[in-house]
Amino acid sequence: MRVKVEDLYFSYPGKDVLKGINLDLKETDIVCVLGPNGSGKSTLVKCIEGLQPPQSGNIIFDGTNSSKLSRIEIARLIGYVPQSSSQLFSASVFDTVMMGRKPHYSWRCSDDDIDIVADVLEQMGLANLSMNEYNCLSGGQQQRVLIARALAQQPELLLLDEPTSALDIAHQLEVMEIIHNSVHKRGIGVLMVIHDLNLASRYADKIIMMKDGIVFACGAPEEIFTKENIEEVYGVEANIFSHEGILSVIPVRRSDAKLVPESLGIF
Ligand code: ADP
Repeated sequence: MRVKVEDLYFSYPGKDVLKGINLDLKETDIVCVLGPNGSGKSTLVKCIEGLQPPQSGNIIFDGTNSSKLSRIEIARLIGYVPQSSSQLFSASVFDTVMMGRKPHYSWRCSDDDIDIVADVLEQMGLANLSMNEYNCLSGGQQQRVLIARALAQQPELLLLDEPTSALDIAHQLEVMEIIHNSVHKRGIGVLMVIHDLNLASRYADKIIMMKDGIVFACGAPEEIFTKENIEEVYGVEANIFSHEGILSVIPVRRSDAKLVPESLGIF
């Protein structure tokens, strides 16, 4: 699904967050949204998902303005994985992932729905936990269950808010591979907020670098990951290496590092 964001503005009471965002996302791209804390990344994802109605601007899915779509229509198009989610009621991993099928049936799931959920649990390495209580899992396991729920939804666009933040490095790679394969096998698009510049560099087709509620830079990883951009956006000096065609960003020091000890009175 092609997603266009046109001149998007969003404010919380007393706080302007998104200040004129324009994006054009292709159907099967992995797009990583990066930027410092508070730059508006999660808010952007919530606006696209429809959780936060913008003050002005348009979000367009394949030519249809999202404001014209019902929640159920949006749920058939978009799978959203929040940063974390605790369930107020007790549910098994299987039932939690089955919730992803809800936009596709009325009150009774079909054998196909059960097969889809079973396949996703298998694919995500969660089959052995399927009867465990979601609320009793580790943060990393819960994160994988939420991704599984979004994949079971079979959306056209997957919106992920820091999907790897609670995962060990093996599961980070596993989840990124699953997302990568889903894009290519099922033809879905992915918009992902992520802090890990190196994972983004390895898997993203496109990077959106945000700063203070605007898109500071947008393009392929090799265009965006420059010393100048990292310093300007994060205030960090970084070294950038290329290994087997993939860029690695190694943060060296804060640009204002000399000021920190003095201001804290440490030395
Ligand atoms: P990021 O994801 O880049 O860290 P967010 O989109 O979460 O940034 O937040 C952007 C700004 O909006 C921050 O200054 C944050 O404090 C503020 N903010 C986020 N959620 C709320 C809220 N529910 N009410 C008021 N302000 C909020």
